Amino acid sequence: MSLDTAIAQPTIHPELLSAFSQDEFNSHVMTTYGRFNLALIKGEGCTVWDTEGKTYLDFVAGIATCTLGHAHPAIIEAVTAQIQTLTHVSNLYYVPVQGELAKWLVAHSCADRVFFCNSGAEANEGAIKLARKYAHTVLGITEPVILTANASFHGRTLATVTATGQPKYHKNFAPLVSGFEYVPYNDFAAIESAVAALDGRVAAIMLEPLQGEGGVNPGQVAYFQQVRKLCDEKGILLILDEVQVGMGRSGKYWGYEQLGIEPDIFTSAKGLGSGIPIGATLCKASCNVFEPGDHASTYGGNPFVCAVALAVCQTLERENILANVQARGEQLRAGLQQLATKYPHTISEVRGWGLINGLELQADSNIGAIDIVKAAMAAGLLLVPAGLKVVRFVPPLIVSAAEIDRSISILDRVLATI
Ligand SMILES: *Cc1c(COP(=O)(O)O)cnc(C)c1O
Repeated sequence: MSLDTAIAQPTIHPELLSAFSQDEFNSHVMTTYGRFNLALIKGEGCTVWDTEGKTYLDFVAGIATCTLGHAHPAIIEAVTAQIQTLTHVSNLYYVPVQGELAKWLVAHSCADRVFFCNSGAEANEGAIKLARKYAHTVLGITEPVILTANASFHGRTLATVTATGQPKYHKNFAPLVSGFEYVPYNDFAAIESAVAALDGRVAAIMLEPLQGEGGVNPGQVAYFQQVRKLCDEKGILLILDEVQVGMGRSGKYWGYEQLGIEPDIFTSAKGLGSGIPIGATLCKASCNVFEPGDHASTYGGNPFVCAVALAVCQTLERENILANVQARGEQLRAGLQQLATKYPHTISEVRGWGLINGLELQADSNIGAIDIVKAAMAAGLLLVPAGLKVVRFVPPLIVSAAEIDRSISILDRVLATI
């Protein structure tokens, strides 16, 4: 059965079909993105439709964002009800649904307090500011340093792009923000000696539990436990960037649960709103040093986004979606592992947690992640690279067993012909 016959054709407004012009788009929108030759106009579950009416199995999910897939009834209901009631006021006033969402997040994590904003970068900015204030007011460090990892990704604002340990994202944006130093990931000796060399100036260590953008590199349990212990001994804050791996994607609510540790501060965004823009900085009561006037965001935690994110959280819990993430993740890795055995000259490794997985390509093969992604797209499967040699699989967390099987059979055809 082909993809086209497997899925009923959608009702798309005829004017949207084929009316799209890339040239016109690029004459108005800044070309900050290298976009694929594909324009999407409709989604349902794990399927999206392009302007020609062709369907794709969406294993990108807006880059690990559309937790409940596209057009989920719980989201439609929450969006509709809230937009008819109250969209936006201001944090000049109490917003009850913001409190409800914070209560859910606190009940389902190690955090005691939440600050809401609009994106992953903004959530990390909040974490950085919180750690700096803690350094100045509690630790008595006048020039605090935050250690981050090589190959990390923390966002594109100036502070978070500086925190991002990838020189390609820094090029042409100097002067960067001071107070960041980089260490290799999953290397405890390196972080221990960096802390010693900085002689009491390290305020925080900021890491992803699993590096997403940097190549789907899971954190090692022993490493994170040693880092946690080092932080405890030295009074250093541990900040975890859960923007990509949090909110159930790893098969647990938070990536740190895979590592058997708790952070002092962590951040969430991508999956939190399942496509509605929201971010959050969460912390333990012990480092909650923000006071009125210290930090703010006009849209942060408005009634609209909080009602939708609360619906996402409640749906994850009510429908026991974490169990699906675990089962579908195992199924996906088993299928990818079979492909790795079948195509050993192309694939070197399969790795990941839950529904964030990477397929690493052989270093000496001339096939890059982008080649697989383009061929899979032509065959009806959307995937996203994580660096030059890793293909990333981050489908909606509601993905079905049949959809996982279909992704593997499409990829099998792609690998046989590439
Ligand atoms: C995507 C991402 C960010 C940045 O999030 P934006 O919403 O694009 O600002 C930060 N950290 C990690 C780990 C991410 O994957």
